[in-house]
Amino acid sequence: MAFCRNCGNQVNEGVKFCPKCGQPVEAQPVQQPSVQPQYVSQTVQQPQERKPIKPDSGMLMAILSTIFCCLPTGIVAIIKANKVDKLYYSGDYRGAEDAASSARTWTYIGVGIAAISYLIYFIFIGLSGISL
Ligand SMILES: [Zn+2]
Repeated sequence: MAFCRNCGNQVNEGVKFCPKCGQPVEAQPVQQPSVQPQYVSQTVQQPQERKPIKPDSGMLMAILSTIFCCLPTGIVAIIKANKVDKLYYSGDYRGAEDAASSARTWTYIGVGIAAISYLIYFIFIGLSGISL
């Protein structure tokens, strides 16, 4: 049994032209069930390195500390905070964590210095006020 390639009409064996559409019927090649080589997916799953969450660089605090508190320590904090992203995206999560904690430390030092400075300043003003 053959089928017309043009219209799909079933035509008898040996018939040269399709009775339905008139197109020449060619002998259909016997379709061998093609044995596809079964490729077993053996892609070895790389053990996914657990990506830690990017540490908070503390950049905002570092900048605020620079503006309102102490410029030198604030700049150090900004430099450290800036390194956090760079280290993190280069895969050095440990380094990023260290830079982040370092940035925080320098921010706190700056805030601390500023707080002490203001305290001394206000004490001085206060003492001046009393002595006047
Ligand atoms: Zn046909």
